[in-house]
Amino acid sequence: MSTRTCPHCKATILASASVCPGCKGHLRFDKPHGGPASKANWRVEGSFTAERPADPMDYCILISVRNELNQEIARHVVNVGTLQGDQRRIFTLTVETADGEKP
Ligand SMILES: [Zn+2]
Repeated sequence: MSTRTCPHCKATILASASVCPGCKGHLRFDKPHGGPASKANWRVEGSFTAERPADPMDYCILISVRNELNQEIARHVVNVGTLQGDQRRIFTLTVETADGEKP
């Protein structure tokens, strides 16, 4: 796997990415048509509101990644906040893939 660091947001991303999935900053200008760009293969979206509109509700959005042995290999708190009234949060998890390098 070859990765690099986004010069804009410093996230570790796939070297093949032409646009940083983290900050959406453009990274490559040598392939105007995008080349073998990464694909968004999986996407999960959901939303939530406060359980009781009259009371503020704190929330924490956490993503964890496990491997085939059920071992956690990444865990990241993405956002915390408070909702009240009819405020809503919509979250989207996207998995992008690209062809890897053969060993
Ligand atoms: Zn970035």
